[in-house]
Amino acid sequence: MWVDVIVEDILSSRPADRYVINDAKSPSGPIHVGSLRGVVLHDCLARGLRDHRREATFLYGFDDYDPMDSRPASIPAEYDRYLGMPLSEVPSPGGGGQSYGQYYGLGFAEVWKKVGAQPEIYWTSGMYKSGKFNEAIRIALDRAEELIQIDREISGSQKAERHPIQPLCENCGRIGTTVVTGWDGSFVTYECRPDKVRWATGCGHRGRRNPFDGGSKLQYKAEWAAKWWLLGVQVEGAGKDHMTKGGSHDVASAMAERVLNLRVPYPIAYEWFLVGGKKMSSSTGLGVPAAELVEILRPELARFLMVRPHYRQQINFDPTGETIPTLYDEYDRAAAAYFGESEAKTPAEAELLRDHARTFYFSRIHDEQPRAYRMRFSKVAYLMQMPTVNLEDAAAKEKGAPLTEADRAELRRRMDDARRWLESYAPDHYRFSVQPTLPVVELTPAQRAFLARLADVVGAQEVWSGEELHTRIHALKNEMNLAAKEAFAAIYLAFLGKPSGPQAGWLLASLDREFVSQRLREAGSAPVRSARPGAR
Ligand SMILES: [Zn+2]
Repeated sequence: MWVDVIVEDILSSRPADRYVINDAKSPSGPIHVGSLRGVVLHDCLARGLRDHRREATFLYGFDDYDPMDSRPASIPAEYDRYLGMPLSEVPSPGGGGQSYGQYYGLGFAEVWKKVGAQPEIYWTSGMYKSGKFNEAIRIALDRAEELIQIDREISGSQKAERHPIQPLCENCGRIGTTVVTGWDGSFVTYECRPDKVRWATGCGHRGRRNPFDGGSKLQYKAEWAAKWWLLGVQVEGAGKDHMTKGGSHDVASAMAERVLNLRVPYPIAYEWFLVGGKKMSSSTGLGVPAAELVEILRPELARFLMVRPHYRQQINFDPTGETIPTLYDEYDRAAAAYFGESEAKTPAEAELLRDHARTFYFSRIHDEQPRAYRMRFSKVAYLMQMPTVNLEDAAAKEKGAPLTEADRAELRRRMDDARRWLESYAPDHYRFSVQPTLPVVELTPAQRAFLARLADVVGAQEVWSGEELHTRIHALKNEMNLAAKEAFAAIYLAFLGKPSGPQAGWLLASLDREFVSQRLREAGSAPVRSARPGAR
């Protein structure tokens, strides 16, 4: 299990009693699933370190002193005038949060709470305004040339505007448009340039100001290094886009090592988390907000989706097709291993079970997750569509014992998920409804004969159960020398009006016996619509 491997590596390469783990995001709009993968990864590492009796603090920083550099489509155009201002100084677009940055940051925190992550939040706006960054700002101003040189050397870019400090313009309140023109040890002189960036227009003001206590911010690579230093970060992963050679992590690392004499936190470069498929409401791929994921999947499964694959493996989640039933089956397999319900026959199987059990362990939302009876998701989805079936009764029968409160709660979750899935994402062959009257369908003479005989078999049936009917159907089609596909298609056509469906025995057993006999007889004697005239 990859979490255990990383934790062991951290413990051996950087032995300590206490670890600070950091993750961060600029709350510039709805925060996407890729960032949620980061939260879950760091949360797992914190849990893993705590299991080894280490103190682990998981910090999550919202970089809300970053300038607003784009406007999401859902935000009114009048917000364009705030472009270039710190996210903490832009008004909140909705009910929550005291600023634009808080609105999106707190919205994201709601999502991570659902998936069981509990980082401590800090806001860079608060750190700047309270003076926590002052020392780093002083170093950056004193050694600006050196930092600019490091950026050029590591990134290989000769872009001129890389000064590590961006003053807050006293005239227009923008921070993304300013450049430092001088530093005398107490004050910076600066210009607010109309053409510094494409996404915001500076006001042209030239000023001189105190850069401390919120009067300026560090450019983001220097800020990254300063945060490692000020917060004592020992572990911090990032999406692989930040971790390319010469990318922002490399630059921040060189700044940390050469200017701050710091050991770079243990790095983890994790892969993309892509959400695809036609059914997604917003832009596809990286652009799916994390909040949408927990609307599609219950939190346990959303977390499992991120814990199960190795962190260097890309996640491509498409909620359509067989994805969700398959994910549920894998989740159940992991749960079975965790609760000791599975038995290994070979050492290789034992190894696999251990891996599954650890995956489930790190996928849990709460420390205490009660063991509950898990009816297969696809079966829940089928049974729910059968008239007269009581899911609790069916589950108790399958379990062979009365359901506990935890069993019932788990079953209800699965029913909610199945309902949502059937409505929005399930492939057609999972959906069905029993037709109140005989559907207009085409049956071969052999299929008609089979249904007529089945009506007799069903009429004489003593035990009205799915298993029993299943056995009878098989025996009859063998006796009549009918291919399984044709036999079952005949049943589905007669009851559902389509050639496929759930296990036929279960389907019939879920219906009233008289109704079933009647329908079979009717279908068995119906005229063959496809027959050629005169043919026999
Ligand atoms: Zn300005």
